[in-house]
Amino acid sequence: MRPDLLNPLFAESGSLKGVGPGLARPLEKLGLTRVRDLAYHLPDRFVTRRAVTNLDEASVGEQIVVALTVREHRASAGRGPFRILAEDAAGNVVALIYFGRASYSARKLLPTGETRWVAGRLDQFGQTLQIVHPDHVAEDGAGLMGQLNEAVYPLSEGLTQGRVQGLVHQALEHLPELPEWIEPGLVDKMGWPTWKDALGLAHKGQHPLARDRLAYDELLANSLALLLVRASNRTRTGTPLVGDGHLRAKLNLPFALTGAQARSIAEIEGDVAQGAPMLRLLQGDVGSGKTAVALHAMLIAVEAGAQAALLAPTEILARQHAETLTRMVAGTGVTIQLLTGRDKGRARESILMGLLDGSIQICVGTHAIFQEAVAYRNLGLVVIDEQHRFGVGQRLMLTQKAKRTPHCLAMTATPIPRTLTLAQYGEMDVSRLDEMPPGRQAIDTRVVAQDRLVDVVEGVGRHIASGAQAYWVCPMVREQETEDLAAAEARHAALKERFGDTVVLVHGQLRPEAKDAAMERFASGEAKLLVATTVIEVGVDVPNATLMVIEQAERFGLAQLHQLRGRVGRGSQKSTCLLLRGEALSEVGRERLALMRETQDGFQLAEEDLRLRGGGELLGTRQSGDTPFRVADFEQIARLLPVAHDDARLLMERDGGLSSPRGEAARVLLYLFERDWGVQLLRGG
Ligand code: ADP
Ligand code: MG
Repeated sequence: MRPDLLNPLFAESGSLKGVGPGLARPLEKLGLTRVRDLAYHLPDRFVTRRAVTNLDEASVGEQIVVALTVREHRASAGRGPFRILAEDAAGNVVALIYFGRASYSARKLLPTGETRWVAGRLDQFGQTLQIVHPDHVAEDGAGLMGQLNEAVYPLSEGLTQGRVQGLVHQALEHLPELPEWIEPGLVDKMGWPTWKDALGLAHKGQHPLARDRLAYDELLANSLALLLVRASNRTRTGTPLVGDGHLRAKLNLPFALTGAQARSIAEIEGDVAQGAPMLRLLQGDVGSGKTAVALHAMLIAVEAGAQAALLAPTEILARQHAETLTRMVAGTGVTIQLLTGRDKGRARESILMGLLDGSIQICVGTHAIFQEAVAYRNLGLVVIDEQHRFGVGQRLMLTQKAKRTPHCLAMTATPIPRTLTLAQYGEMDVSRLDEMPPGRQAIDTRVVAQDRLVDVVEGVGRHIASGAQAYWVCPMVREQETEDLAAAEARHAALKERFGDTVVLVHGQLRPEAKDAAMERFASGEAKLLVATTVIEVGVDVPNATLMVIEQAERFGLAQLHQLRGRVGRGSQKSTCLLLRGEALSEVGRERLALMRETQDGFQLAEEDLRLRGGGELLGTRQSGDTPFRVADFEQIARLLPVAHDDARLLMERDGGLSSPRGEAARVLLYLFERDWGVQLLRGG
């Protein structure tokens, strides 16, 4: 059970002052449902604004506060932005731009003929001055003048900076005192503040030490939880699986295995023949052929008379896997069944029967395959695909709770540097597919200056006119970043104006149905151009998409660029990736993009990314999506994860039951970061 002293942190956000039902949804969208989440909702940056009497005093790109008189509301046709034309004291006109639902509140905040104080970044679009999504609009300037230095938080629609600031402030007032869980010597050596002070400081200004401490906490929690899984795994007994090869012999794959695939399969075969349950990670770049390895592993289980399950992160991917595997086993007589949350009633009942009586030998699905009601006759092997987004630990825990622990193979396409593998995955054994199947065409990667956008759009036009499809990726540091979202919507609107209905948009704030519908149109070939902020989520394979444009490529990590690029180059046609770069590119930025041009090897890129970022380059970019971490950014992961891992290992060696005072504190940490599945295993769960 969660320690009582954490209760104030796990109270609902709704319990704070001034949170009505209207705020519930916007807060939920940001994942801010509890006081804890608000306290950890760290600012993306801090702005310093300058108050100006008119726009002549300000330069483009500057953060300003200025009084403006509203002249005109101008709604645009279709899905374009809502513009409010306003004038400063010198008669300069500026357009205030709003996208989506934000335009409704803007209408009310900025009535025609009235004067309002507006805070935001002054931009120029063609000849027009504009401020996209002003940070603040106030009737009275005094408040804005009082906070010219301000934390800027990620927002979602329906939330303002002021609102979030107020809520975070309240959350910070509710922080309890927590015991120190970090090795005291390390805290001293690093000069880190206490947990409570660190949170306070991180919201106040640039405090690298505070941010590091908070990141370290998260990394430590993760390492510790994974080590608990590992330790528990060592005490369990599994079933040795020895296959006689009769099913694998019947397989009729249209290719010979690569050396790396054969080696990985041999490693797995060696593991599962043991009584101790396997805990192995299969690392292989997109397209390296992990599915075939998984299939061989599962067939070993079936040959040995056991069942196997493959767990995919989304329904779409589960379906794709089920189809691929069914095709691969044709002629072997092996039965494969898909099970997802969508299966209801009689259909579901009959699947459950099949799992219970063993007539289904391989089950493929989402987490539905591990729900309470799902019982297997003899589950011998679990394969977990692509767990980098949620972290592999929780999924592993599911398998550890079984009476007889199945062997477990986790597969990931996230290329991470060797030095981080152990720490991130908690001492799993690792097999690497470091060799691509033969005949892969390199993706022609080019770096193009952003100011050649017009040519790029023309190129995209020729590409889709030839019948092929293309991706257009806009950067989105975090899903909730209003400015980035606005930029993506603006790009979509512009491309749609140029190419018509054949352009679709996918981003994280769309409802799942809308997202699916857009993806469906693109996958079916009806839509030709997919504008997206979250292609990473798009696990769907579209071989006809052979061009990818990535805007502001310098804002992405190399590993992330590599994964994005992996969405093209899937068919027999030659593929191209255009990396658009901004003007002000640093030396390191240049080097990074050049690397993308030169190599297609994800592991090499990951190593280089670490080397280049390790050089202290501050990218102002938080890498989301690729790691199970919300607080720690890439650079912190690279620097602090190995330390956290060692710290966790030491603690486990001294106090594996977490019963010493520091062990107790570590339990608090695990609950704080919701890695308490580790603790559950500790109790024998
Ligand atoms: P990933 O590692 O990304 O999951 P897949 O398993 O989907 O990769 O394999 C990518 C493609 O490569 C598939 O079309 C698969 O049939 C093919 N493939 C896998 N192994 C080989 C091989 N040894 N030789 C040729 N093609 C292969
Ligand atoms: Mg795959």
